[in-house]
Amino acid sequence: MISFEHFKFSDDLRKSIERLGYQSPTKIQEESIPLILAGRDMLGESETGSGKTLAFGSGVIENTARGKGLQALILTPTRELAEQVKVSLCKLAYHKQLKITAIYGGVSFGPQFRSLKSADIVVATPGRFKDHLQRGTVNTSNVSILVLDEADRMLDMGFIDDIEMIINSCPNRKQTLFFSATIPPQIEKLSKRYLKRPIKVSTRKHVDSKKLKQGYFDVPRSLKFSLLLHLLRDTSSKLAMVFCNTRRTTDVVIKHLKIYKVDAVALHGGFPQNKRTEAIENFKEGKIHVLVCTDVAARGIHVDNISHIYNYDIPSNPIDYVHRIGRTARAGEEGQVINLLSEEDHDNFSRILCEYRFSINKLKKPYVERVVFCSHRTSSSKKPRMR
Ligand code: AMP
Repeated sequence: MISFEHFKFSDDLRKSIERLGYQSPTKIQEESIPLILAGRDMLGESETGSGKTLAFGSGVIENTARGKGLQALILTPTRELAEQVKVSLCKLAYHKQLKITAIYGGVSFGPQFRSLKSADIVVATPGRFKDHLQRGTVNTSNVSILVLDEADRMLDMGFIDDIEMIINSCPNRKQTLFFSATIPPQIEKLSKRYLKRPIKVSTRKHVDSKKLKQGYFDVPRSLKFSLLLHLLRDTSSKLAMVFCNTRRTTDVVIKHLKIYKVDAVALHGGFPQNKRTEAIENFKEGKIHVLVCTDVAARGIHVDNISHIYNYDIPSNPIDYVHRIGRTARAGEEGQVINLLSEEDHDNFSRILCEYRFSINKLKKPYVERVVFCSHRTSSSKKPRMR
């Protein structure tokens, strides 16, 4: 295992990292920081929780100086992740005077115009950043490092055109880093188009497969909520996340949990930014124990101590399932994933099971291999079909 000394950081960055108290680099940091500091383009396969912000953040902080215009741009899929990355970068820049700002939709433009004028580093969601480009309120001609964080998710969310427009607005002569939890063909394609002789770095999944237990209940739709309530009350969990496929279901579930006095909070893209921030903070600090959310809103949030994931609906995209379960069984902790299936979830669930088989045979993804689905059947409805 190497130490941070190995990277020959500037004194400013070294002291900021020391201040954070990290003992040694994570795997993605160990493998990617030397390449990033050497100015190489990179495609990093790494998920939330693997320490990738410090990996690209070290290159961003080392190569940015105060007052020379916008030099580093980081694109993230969600507002929450933009804020989170901004906070992490501010910590890394603790001993260096840099102006770092987060730019995302759902809030007014005015303060953003002002902060963009003097920003050295911008962390932004693609839609709002494109709006600023079109209004001429941001200048990307000095950008020397561009990072796509959670690139797969940004493409899933339909940001491809915005992203390409933003990349094309930056100078050709820049360093480009893509970080993505998975590398589907579109990301490969995008990287071929925009990365120069990129080096691919892939790190093992952070979730501990041996500590992750998964199971499902198969019940009529009308009993789903009662089952969830029973499980939340009956299980001694640390923090629990309840994933729903839509905002509407999230609203219905949170409304009923509150009626039954469960300390829960909801998070989805329909809430104003201040409510979203408040919900996450309360959950992170353990003031509230249950977070009911959609995939989009919860994406990229790093919260320790999540012991249970409840899938109130099963996502249609198996990748979303992988991201959901990746929130638990982190850093040596135990974690449980409980799927609440009813008839309409069977197809999605079957697709996930098939995808896993595919993964085991073709991709040998380690934490998928150990998945054990144990059935707690509470109704006579038939098992999910294996296709
Ligand atoms: P990220 O993948 O960047 O979202 O980071 C996930 C979490 O790991 C954050 O809470 C970081 O503060 C933490 N972290 C990053 N690097 C290290 C490290 N080298 N050692 C311990 N924790 C770290």
